[in-house]
Order: sequence, then structure tokens, then C-alpha cells
Amino acid sequence: MTFVEAADELVRLGTEFHRRGWMLGTSGNLSAVLAEDPLRLAITASSIDKGRMHPSQILEVGGNGTIVENGHKPLGWPSAETLLHLEVVRCTGAQAVLHTHSVWATVLSDFYHPRGGFFIKDYEMLKGLEGVRTHEHREWIPIVENTQDMAALAVKARETFDKNPGVHGLLVRRHGMYTWGKDLATAARHVEILEFLLEAVGRREMMEPQS
Ligand SMILES: [Zn+2]
Repeated sequence: MTFVEAADELVRLGTEFHRRGWMLGTSGNLSAVLAEDPLRLAITASSIDKGRMHPSQILEVGGNGTIVENGHKPLGWPSAETLLHLEVVRCTGAQAVLHTHSVWATVLSDFYHPRGGFFIKDYEMLKGLEGVRTHEHREWIPIVENTQDMAALAVKARETFDKNPGVHGLLVRRHGMYTWGKDLATAARHVEILEFLLEAVGRREMMEPQS
């Protein structure tokens, strides 16, 4: 994927996720791997309004999270959360990492934080997650405590992946969700599937506590 292709697709996805209520205001960030060695990402700049995105707000960054000159003049600077995107890529081999701030991710990440996470099981929509063939799958959703120290959060994310290989998403308490995929289309599908499942779990819990 070229930088221009990635920038156009990240703008399209950000605009769509804003419309769905998953990236309101300046929340969230989206990235796609451009090259693996050395590692390069296309990623949304810090503090941009997701309802008014433009390709000039997509940056190319290297493996240390700083801007790489690529002939396009970017508007903005990398988000601190770029470090977490890079860590997810290194830990999972993902080619795209998408980070949303939905209401249900925020609420459930707080409610289940004392248990370190929760299982989603027996929902047909689980089959939308890469490699899942049956609704009988049990998907563990790990939760890490929120912090503004992104280097510390990256360490916690690595520990979580070591303990829970094969998870499709990660929640940060009272903050939001990270998910990823083998390409941008898969990662975007994982956002849709996981956001559906989080809302289903949250609404069901409110009707009649399941846990
Ligand atoms: Zn965030």
C-alpha cells in the first residue's frame, strides 16, 4: 500500500467511524503499515477532528514514532498514542491498527476492569473475527489501566499479548478500544464486529446481569 492510498483509506475510515459515533471530536487514531523493515506507518495526526478529516492530516512515521519525510507536506504532528500503534504492530504482526473511543468500550472497560477483562461467547457475530469459525468461540477482551504515559502503556500491551496470544482487541480503561488486522479491511471489519459485540454485551448486562 502506498502512502497516498493509505492516507485516502484512513480518511475514509475515520470519517465513517466518526459518523457511527466511535471517534467523536478529536478522539481515536488510525494507522496502516507502509513498510516493515525499517518499520513505517501512515497514521492520523494528533488532535484532528474526525468529522473533518483530510489526507494532509495523515503522517508517515518511523519505528520510533517520529515523522519521516516522504515528499508530502503533512499538517500536524504524531499523537502520543503512535507508540502504542507501533507496539501492537510489533507484537501481533498486524498491517493496520485502529483505535476507537466508543461509549460501550468506555463503559465496559470500566465495569470489567477489576477482573482484567471479560469473555464474549456464543454470539454469531464472533464469526466476523479473523480465524473464528463458530459462534461457540470464547473471545477474551483484555483491559489495561489508562495512563498518559504511552511508553508504560506499550509495555502493558506487550505483557497482555504475551499472556493472551490470539486476542483480536484490547480495551484501555475508561478510554477506548484497539483492534488490528492483516490489512486495513480486516482491521476495519474488526472495529465493526467488536463494537457490535461490546454494545450487545453491555445492553444484555443492563437487562439482566450475566456475570
Ligand atoms: Zn485514545
